[in-house]
Amino acid sequence: MSAPRPESPRAYRGRLLTPAAAPADGAGSPGAEVRYLDDALLVVGGDGRVVRAAPFAPGAFAGPVLDLRPAVLMPGFIDAHVHFPQTRVIGSASGPLLQWLERSVFPEEARFRDDGYAALVAGEFTGRLLASGTTTCVVFSSSDAAATDRLFRALQRAGLRGIAGLTLMDQRCPAELCVPRDEAIAAARDLVQRWHGEGSGLLEFAITPRFAPTCSRALMEAAARLAADHGLLVQTHVAETPAEGEAALREHPWARDYIDIYDRVGLLSGRAVLAHGIHLSPREWDRIAAAGAALVHCPDSNFFLGSGRMRLAEARARAVPVALGSDVGAGRSFDMRRSMSSAFDNALCLGDRVTPAELFVTATQGAADAIGLGRVIGSLEPGKEADFLAIRLPEYVHGEAETLQHLVFAPEAAAIQRVFVRGKLVYP
Ligand SMILES: [Zn+2]
Repeated sequence: MSAPRPESPRAYRGRLLTPAAAPADGAGSPGAEVRYLDDALLVVGGDGRVVRAAPFAPGAFAGPVLDLRPAVLMPGFIDAHVHFPQTRVIGSASGPLLQWLERSVFPEEARFRDDGYAALVAGEFTGRLLASGTTTCVVFSSSDAAATDRLFRALQRAGLRGIAGLTLMDQRCPAELCVPRDEAIAAARDLVQRWHGEGSGLLEFAITPRFAPTCSRALMEAAARLAADHGLLVQTHVAETPAEGEAALREHPWARDYIDIYDRVGLLSGRAVLAHGIHLSPREWDRIAAAGAALVHCPDSNFFLGSGRMRLAEARARAVPVALGSDVGAGRSFDMRRSMSSAFDNALCLGDRVTPAELFVTATQGAADAIGLGRVIGSLEPGKEADFLAIRLPEYVHGEAETLQHLVFAPEAAAIQRVFVRGKLVYP
């Protein structure tokens, strides 16, 4: 019996913008080095990997070349923090955080016990991500196992790369969302078996305690064991608001500070991805750095809920990997260009400066590094999997600086034309 014939290579012509290749030894943070080509040829092999990303030359590729000029070919966006069951409550976020959760989020998340509703919104969720040019998402589901299964099915159907988890909560939350430890861990284990590594590796299961106030110590310890057993990514929230930090320590008085809770239950590691990290002490920053954990900066959400300003300089000073997250539904848009733009404003509020190149790298290669996929995706270079976009820029935009500034700050002038994951067209 012969193996199925691999698809033949495909070639695309356009401008090209990508984070520059990492140094050969893989050392160091991605920084803000980008590579720009005014007229490039991108060749994708039958296995979905980039074969060539180089200046265009006639005859460089034997087959047909799809000419997408003046579109820019760039790596797909990575949304490292987004809540699937909050798709329909975008715009409801009137802070502060804890009151918004009680008033808007928890009642909405309870609706996901209805299988039909979960399936419907899962389709909306993946459609919105693709239309925004997001090719990889790191997702919180609700605490309902069937809804999480619906989410994975929708991610698979859409062809997205996704890391998603069942949101764990066994205390201090409405009864409809509260799932006791043993039941929640059994459901998570079942979802690991069903989905972790599915879609030829495009899908991963993540251990997802909502945050320390709504999780018992025993639940977090069991979750940490499950993560260690399967090498799973861990995602949670930390230090978004002072009141949340106080609630966390009220529930877990044995800890010296907020980060110490996750540390002592075994959740803080090089596989941990922590959202927000606004109100952290120097000791907590140092512990995050020492553990090799990553931070997800969600500035649009932080502005909308009035949660405060994440200090990017603290992360930079300690080489803590940073990704960007839309944090929908507290964030106002699935479009990572909104997050990049808000990150610029956030830095400005702190008297800090962040360049468009740095924002672009953070939303692509930097995020890939933060979630453990830095060698697989995040840039367009031979050997990487071809997760990429064609974004149509106005004809009058020329050169690296103008391209970056339009990509990051002017989404309405830069329409997303095509989205590819592992070389396969997934949008439109
Ligand atoms: Zn969140």
